[in-house]
Amino acid sequence: MPENRLPFRRAVVTGGAGFLGSHLCEALLDAGVEVVCLDNFLTGTPANVAHLMEHPGFHLRRCDITEYVHVPGPVDLVLHFASPASPVDYLKLPLETLKVGSTGTWHALGLAKEKSARFLLASTSETYGDPQVHPQPETYWGHVNPVGPRGVYDESKRYAEALTTAYRTTHGVDTAIVRIFNTYGPRMRAADGRAIPTFIRQALAGEPVTVAGDGQQTRSICYVDDLVAGILALAASGHPGPVNIGNPTELTVRAIAEDVIAAAGSGSPLEFIGRPVDDPQVRRPDTTLARTVLGWEPRVDWADGLARTVRWFQEQRAAADQEEAHARRVVDVRDAERALPPVS
Ligand code: NAD
Repeated sequence: MPENRLPFRRAVVTGGAGFLGSHLCEALLDAGVEVVCLDNFLTGTPANVAHLMEHPGFHLRRCDITEYVHVPGPVDLVLHFASPASPVDYLKLPLETLKVGSTGTWHALGLAKEKSARFLLASTSETYGDPQVHPQPETYWGHVNPVGPRGVYDESKRYAEALTTAYRTTHGVDTAIVRIFNTYGPRMRAADGRAIPTFIRQALAGEPVTVAGDGQQTRSICYVDDLVAGILALAASGHPGPVNIGNPTELTVRAIAEDVIAAAGSGSPLEFIGRPVDDPQVRRPDTTLARTVLGWEPRVDWADGLARTVRWFQEQRAAADQEEAHARRVVDVRDAERALPPVS
């Protein structure tokens, strides 16, 4: 098997039109795997996979995974990524978040069972809550407030993990759980509320960059290509997980903001604002298991990943500016036409 080939022929990716899902679809196609992408575009967009539409192995279907789902033909891998993921999204969509983590996971597991496919659940470092153990190994059970605002997301993922485990033990489905730590890269939405896209949007616009609290809380952030490599390694490994995938380099939120301002070549000042409720103070994966069982380690360093991400946001802004200028020209021409004397 060549290095980038995978032991799968046809994969279903739920939430495939989202930030991570779209990168996964791309990587699967690159590895010769046919992809059925299921998405209801709740927080994702067809634009994220527009460049894949001509690929003969790519099939996009609008589908709400919380409703009955049928995928014709063989499937040997189900990657369940459908779920609002940014705090702004899941605070706005609490019931949808709980439903996709519960009913949606039942359906995705049912599909894997029906097709005798390997199943991989996208879980999260949020299952550790505001952790009292640092860094967080997979054996840590977490410190989550179930009735706090973030509870809808954290508990939906904890339930999804329990359900995935029950399908493994009860139905013999070949399951895996990945606990994803903060990931960044191209195709994040500028307004999704997560720190990095927010900082980049503010820095490129020359606005103050808003840092929560004193900015001394830490985050470990992983470039999307590294995350996708880890997920595909887990899918191919047969390991049940949970396995942490994330970059163990820990940065303060303030340092992230300062680096973004520098990478964007911006003169934006920092502005310190209130901390959200239950905002974790520290977050860093213990990646020993991923290193040991998957031979996985992140390769893209922060400066490089940040430069690639800022470039992508700059390109998006340039394209949007061009569209706006074009729309303005069309209006000007129409106004000029209307001002012309009628042909007599
Ligand atoms: P995203 O919002 O960009 O993508 C989620 C996708 O799921 C969207 O395309 C959305 O339209 C789709 N979706 C939501 N509900 C659906 C439903 N009922 N049926 C079908 N599709 C539905 O978020 P993301 O950052 O790409 O996250 C993807 C997955 O990874 C999520 O499960 C999230 O919990 C997990 N995760 C992400 C991160 C991160 O840093 N990005 C960290 C931890 C875990």
